[in-house]
Amino acid sequence: MKRNFLTAVLLSVFILPMFAQNDVLVVFNHKVNFGMRIAKNRRIDTIIIHSSYYNLGGDPYSFSNVLSLYRSYFVNAHYIIDRSGRVYNLVDECNIAFHAGRAVLPDGRSRGINDCSLGIEMISSETDSPTGAQMQSLVKLVKNIQQRHAIKFVLRHSDISPDRKTDPWNFDWTLFLQKLQNQTTTVTLIKK
Ligand SMILES: [Zn+2]
Repeated sequence: MKRNFLTAVLLSVFILPMFAQNDVLVVFNHKVNFGMRIAKNRRIDTIIIHSSYYNLGGDPYSFSNVLSLYRSYFVNAHYIIDRSGRVYNLVDECNIAFHAGRAVLPDGRSRGINDCSLGIEMISSETDSPTGAQMQSLVKLVKNIQQRHAIKFVLRHSDISPDRKTDPWNFDWTLFLQKLQNQTTTVTLIKK
């Protein structure tokens, strides 16, 4: 009895918190060589969230379909999150992905937005919202990036290009920011 009690105390005080303090996010490596540029020593201070889908018939949420669109438009993002919440890394963070285009940051910077930012794409459409699993992965990914870079802005594409962009669509921004704030534990990326 006494030993059981001791085990319970040890578990709850020392062992369980060790696991609880660390969230993990699995990221699948899927590097591509279009819509990107190799960079040297760039400083990342902004995260831009987008959404996109395949609009030429067939499965609009297929990862490979969406990727074929990026390839044809010569655009890209560092990360893409599919409907199941699976995260793919398309471009190394140290390199530039062409995701923002003409844009203005809240501090007035309007040049080289791709040079100072990371782009994250959510596979979603104008008629759907991101799934719960996607949101969960996004929160963890943004949190992890914040741990590794001095991030000044986390923004929607529509925040920086309001005259020409409306994505991410049907996205509860307030809820996302709340979830991000509630993610107080550190997030470790497991790369596959
Ligand atoms: Zn966008």
